Parts: sequence; C-alpha cells; structure tokens
Amino acid sequence: MKMLLGHEWVDREDTIDVRDPFDDSIIDTVPAASHADVETALATAAAAKDTARGMTTYERAQVLNRTAGLIADRIEEFAETIAREGSKTINEARGEARRCVNTLTIAAEEAKRLQGETIPFDSFPGGEARRGYYERVPIGVVLAITPFNDPLNLVAHKLGPAIAGGNAVILKPATVTPLSALKLTEAFMEAGLPSGVLQCITGYGAVLGDALVEDSRVRMVSFTGGVEAGERIMSRVGLKKIGMELGSNSPVIVWKDADLDWAVETCVSGAFWAAGQNCIGVQRIYIHRDVYEQFRDDFVKRAAAYRTGDKLDEATNMGPMINEGEAKRVERWVQEAVDKGATLLAGGTREGSLVPPTVLENVPPEATIHYEEVFGPAVNLYPVDDLDEAINAANSVNYGLHAAGFSNDVTVCHRMAAGLDCGSVILNDSTDYRLDSMPFGGVKNSGLGREGLKFSLQEMTEPKVICWYLPGV
Ligand code: NAP
Repeated sequence: MKMLLGHEWVDREDTIDVRDPFDDSIIDTVPAASHADVETALATAAAAKDTARGMTTYERAQVLNRTAGLIADRIEEFAETIAREGSKTINEARGEARRCVNTLTIAAEEAKRLQGETIPFDSFPGGEARRGYYERVPIGVVLAITPFNDPLNLVAHKLGPAIAGGNAVILKPATVTPLSALKLTEAFMEAGLPSGVLQCITGYGAVLGDALVEDSRVRMVSFTGGVEAGERIMSRVGLKKIGMELGSNSPVIVWKDADLDWAVETCVSGAFWAAGQNCIGVQRIYIHRDVYEQFRDDFVKRAAAYRTGDKLDEATNMGPMINEGEAKRVERWVQEAVDKGATLLAGGTREGSLVPPTVLENVPPEATIHYEEVFGPAVNLYPVDDLDEAINAANSVNYGLHAAGFSNDVTVCHRMAAGLDCGSVILNDSTDYRLDSMPFGGVKNSGLGREGLKFSLQEMTEPKVICWYLPGV
C-alpha cells in the first residue's frame, strides 16, 4: 500500500515488507518514509490545522459517522487485514473491527458534547462589568504513534478524538502492522475529511521518531506502546502535551467464595486473547489457597484445550506471536523462571512464532516473567491466604493499568477496589475488559493520562477564555 503524505498517496523506492506472522509470507509492502518525508508531513499538518479548526462540529461528526459506516459495511475486509498482518484470529479481528465502528461513533457523539461554560467574573470585586465564558478549541497538530497489537481500534482511539476536536493529525502506525491504519486513513478520506488534515506515514519509529516528536509544530504526542519507546519519547518531546498509554502486567485475585467456573473461563480468555499480546491481558493470578488446586486444574485443562494455528481458520482459538523473535523471548523468560524454581504446568514450548498457552506456578519474584510485562501467552498462578497479602502482591510490580478481583462478598470486593493500585479495577471479570468510552490508562509505568473518547478529546483540546468588559451592564 502507499502512504498518505502531504495531499497524496505516495510510494517510495525504499519499502518495508509486511509479513503474516503465522508463516512469514509477505502480504504487502509499504514505503519507508525518509526524514524529508517527515518534514513534508510536519509542514502539511501545520498548514492544515486551520482547515481542521475550520470544520464545524457538524462536519467533524459527519466525517466520523461516515467513516464508522464505511468500516461497518466492510467488517470482513478490515477483520481479514487485522488478522493477516497481526496476531489475532479472524474472530478476534472481527471483534476489533466492530469496536472500531463503536469508537468512531462515540467520537462523533463526543464532538457534539464538547462544551465550555460561563465564568462568574463577578465573583471577585472589580469583575462586576465583566461577562464571559470558555470554549474548548483544537490544540493544532497531534502526532499519533500506535502499536501492533490492536492495529485498527487503537488507531481509531487517536484519530477519532483528534478529528472530533478539530486537529490536524500525523499518524505513525507500528511498522509490523501498518495496513489496518492505512485502510482506516483511506476510509477517512473517502468519508470526506479535507485533504491534509490526516496523514499516515509508514516507517521505523527508531529512525523517524525523534524528528517527529521533537518538532515544535506538533502540539501533542499521543503515544501507545512499550515503556522503552515511551521513555525515549518523553526524553525528547520538549514543551508539548503528552499522552502515554504503556504496558502492564495485570494481576487478578480470585477469592474463595468466587464463582470459580466463571473465573477460570474468563481468566483463560483474558490471558490468551491475541496470544497474550494485550496491554490488559491477565498475567498473574492470586488464588485463595482453599480453592487453589481446583482453579489451577480447571485452568490448565482449559488452556491445554486451546487450538493454536492459522488465524484465518474459524476453529483457531489463538494465533501466533507477532514474530519469531518475540516467541523466543517468551520461551526464554519461561525457561528462566523454571531455572529459578517455577513449575511449568502447560505450554512452554515453541514452534516458529506459535507459543501454546503457557501456565506456571511457584514463580519466584526474581523471575522476569513475574515482574515484567510478558506480552505473550503465559500466565503465573500463586496461592494466597490473606486478602491484604494478595492485594500487596498484586501491587508489587511497577505497572498498574487494569487489575481484577473475583468474590461474591461485597466487602471483599470493596477492599480489592480500594486497594488495587491501577487505572481500572474490574470486579467479577478478568482484567481484559474495556468499554471504549470509559477512561482508560494507568499508573506507574503503565502511563500518563487517559484515553476513552471523552477523555482524549479533553486532552486534544484546550480551554480558551472569552471575557468581555461591558461597563454599564
Ligand atoms: P513499541 O515497540 O513501543 O512501538 C510502538 C510504536 O512506537 C510503534 O509505532 C513504533 O514504531 C514506535 N516507536 C518505536 N520507537 C520509537 C521512537 N524512538 N520514537 C517514536 N516512536 C517510536 O510497542 P509495540 O511492540 O508495537 O506494542 C506493544 C506495547 O504496547 C506493549 O508494551 C503494550 O502493553 C503496549 N500497549 C499499550 C496499550 C495501552 O493502551 N496502554 C495498548 C496496546 C499496547 P516501529 O513499529 O517502527 O518500531
């Protein structure tokens, strides 16, 4: 595919192969943008910000709704693109495409709800003759940098509010999964978004990143990805707004009175969705000792029944990791944990980029897979005796995006809700639950700021005060 740079779709002599991680076959190529292309993108966006700002609320909402409609009409086509370039099975990909329609529809609704308020200038002596209000105005140019694991919907989470807020946007999608983002860009243009307001440039973040994030024409960097790239960006960004949606290592507590069948079912799905390449995927499960063995045995049985393989086969439960290198990393972390005393209950092997559902117990705290984000299909089980012990253990890593707790006791649920240190506590479901309109983001190394359309729209606009001095009023 070509990239949308300036006002046209362009290709370049330098290209990047986009590969299907299942069999490593080349499914397409995209241009490798150069530093000159970065300059074109920045200059175009800086000029187009007035066009974006000039769109009425009605026009912004219309474009967003039309784009949502185009995707809704082509769910299968978008799902296939997501499934082929990424790790998701076709069923998981259909879910993501449907969520993208919802995300853009909510963005259109939020565009219409973007409001200021009147200001009581007479609340301080001297202000009697003043009247006024503030409205929310676009911030200008938003740079959106996105990861590989939700190549469509996480892009929509940035483009939707940026356009709803009247901004020009430069999108830099993940190099391994640029096709869904390019197709979404095409849909926006087909829906009538004015030329220049959105550009999508493809190329390596490590090569283009600094030039993009450092440029003063960019007013906000909205980043979703790993901690390492996030920290690099933070160190270069200068005086700009920043949104950081980073990784996690999500904990779940299963109390002795929980509905165990449900807890097992939803935690298995939460651990192995998208082959565990999910920022809110279940990684550590703390289970009350009274029900530990039952939970563990059911969990392992269900995990072992998973069918891994071809993503486009309807019967496949779990696809490959994004590439063989990532699969090798997970294999290495599992082996390291075993070497340090962990017991492997399921999986742990690897065939190319396919890692089967992997379950460990007795994982020591010094094992990387205990405290780092595994971002793969591996989960650790721990028995616990006491609720405070479980909450402290859950909080003991340097991430905090989602945490979950299962119990039928309201007091236990309240204690978990209050004690778990994270952006969202999900009760009686796994950490892998998100509604696209809810505030979404984390604490500690999981990031800064919140997405979710209403919340990103606040971030991507700023208040502007209008104050009249009206003597005689
Ligand atoms: P990544 O390696 O950090 O890459 C994310 C994006 O950043 C890619 O577009 C990448 O470009 C770009 N990038 C890399 N280095 C850069 C630099 N120096 N300057 C500017 N951009 C740079 O992450 P990933 O492997 O794609 O995604 C997995 C991570 O994302 C996990 O940690 C996961 O938890 C996190 N994530 C978080 C959320 C959330 O909402 N909190 C959601 C999904 C995923 P290239 O592709 O060219 O390297």
